[in-house]
Amino acid sequence: MPSPHRCSTPVVAVKFARKWALSATLATFGLGASFGPDLSFGPSTAEAAAAIPTDAKMVSAPWTREDLAAAKALRDGLVKGSEAFAFVRDLTTEVGPRSAGSAGDAAAVAWAKARLEALGFDRVYTQEVTVPHWDRGDLEVRTEAPFLQRLVAASLGGSIGTAQEGLHGEVVRFDSLEALKAAPDVAVAGKIVFLDQSMMRDREGKGYSPVVRGRADGASLAGAKGAKAIVIRSVGTDANARFAHTGTVTYAINAPRIPAVALSNPDADQLSRQYATAMARQEPVRLFLRSTARELPMAKSANVIGEITGNEFPDEVVVLGGHLDSWDLGHGAIDDGAGVAIATAAAIGIKQAGLKPRRTIRVVLWANEEFGLSGANEYARREAANLGKHVGAVEADFGGARVFRFSSRVAATAVPAMQQVQSVLAPLGIEWGNNEASGGADTGPLRREGVPVFNLQQDGTLYFDNHHTANDTLDKVDPAAVDQATAAYAVLAWLLAQGNLVLR
Ligand SMILES: [Zn+2]
Repeated sequence: MPSPHRCSTPVVAVKFARKWALSATLATFGLGASFGPDLSFGPSTAEAAAAIPTDAKMVSAPWTREDLAAAKALRDGLVKGSEAFAFVRDLTTEVGPRSAGSAGDAAAVAWAKARLEALGFDRVYTQEVTVPHWDRGDLEVRTEAPFLQRLVAASLGGSIGTAQEGLHGEVVRFDSLEALKAAPDVAVAGKIVFLDQSMMRDREGKGYSPVVRGRADGASLAGAKGAKAIVIRSVGTDANARFAHTGTVTYAINAPRIPAVALSNPDADQLSRQYATAMARQEPVRLFLRSTARELPMAKSANVIGEITGNEFPDEVVVLGGHLDSWDLGHGAIDDGAGVAIATAAAIGIKQAGLKPRRTIRVVLWANEEFGLSGANEYARREAANLGKHVGAVEADFGGARVFRFSSRVAATAVPAMQQVQSVLAPLGIEWGNNEASGGADTGPLRREGVPVFNLQQDGTLYFDNHHTANDTLDKVDPAAVDQATAAYAVLAWLLAQGNLVLR
């Protein structure tokens, strides 16, 4: 069989400056680019349709037989064992928690740079990023009436603290953000709002978006109505684990800032029962809150970048990455130690297999995703002039489980090529999704500038049990699953680096 024709047109020959409409979802919630991971699921169909260009050229044979054979060999090699688990094991053991601006954050940057060098990347460098620095301090939450109980809780990221003596208040409960919105100010003023909404378990994590708005926006909604504080039921799918889930609260500029706290799910149940009892007796429920959470001066962090240099088009890059920061409560194993491990292992796996990619494969370990996407925004800003040479970008940020689906966001004419990628992934148990991939939070700024993005969707059934909690530890990462995911990322990165593709 003759080798398929390889045309010499580099991938960037087409127009690239096609802007993407800012996600309607983000705009609606007023979260903008400062709010990352949470609302990145499921772009609207209209947005997806508007994003598909119609003037891209068709390329019929994107890969040589040798490229495809190499992809299959990579897949079959890496699924049997990769660098991924050792990476996340060592990152969580030797660094652990690494929230933006903390000592752990700085340690993680140094650790990751040294690890990428030790793994043999052709070029390793950092990109300085200014990040916000918040410290959760100590927190005490207890019911004072009708029954005295201490509750397990965690301050939401970015929350202000209380006065030193703490605050006391009567509780008013709402079972949705809409109910809180609809409540008259007089029902909320001077009280502590209890936002009691549960999260649905789902393989794709579809339960997250509906409830995370409460975490992000609840404080400002309640504050605008005169509430003293807000306590929410943790955004998580664990029904019976006694730890709280943190995550960012987003204060609106035009509303008073009030302390925002999440209760563990069993403690939210407890407060809910006390509330029912008190309501039946027509008595108030009273809470006490004391928090020393505070904002510190801005700090320095960095994106850590490792490259396998392309041997034909070195200035054309395939980006794969994850975010190096984590929340402070756990070890950052599933969020996002596993993701940075998968991206790193996939790229270095290509080099270790003796392959020389035509284009540069760049691993970006983004700084501070959790508390404002600082690293992602900085990367996009610095690379603004080069984004036309970004072939595509993909982020691993959904834990340490297996990939089950591949989706793309490319020109309609390139979808058959993406389905060909999926056919190489199929033996890993990965199905074709659609051409409406939303990408990851950190690839959002690239996506909005027209860079094609992809999702190698991981099974999220258990992800939100431990997400943003003290229970985000290495034992939640399945070594075989991260090898499977690494194999999938490597196949995608390799095929993007090799193909004669016109993706936009
Ligand atoms: Zn994450």
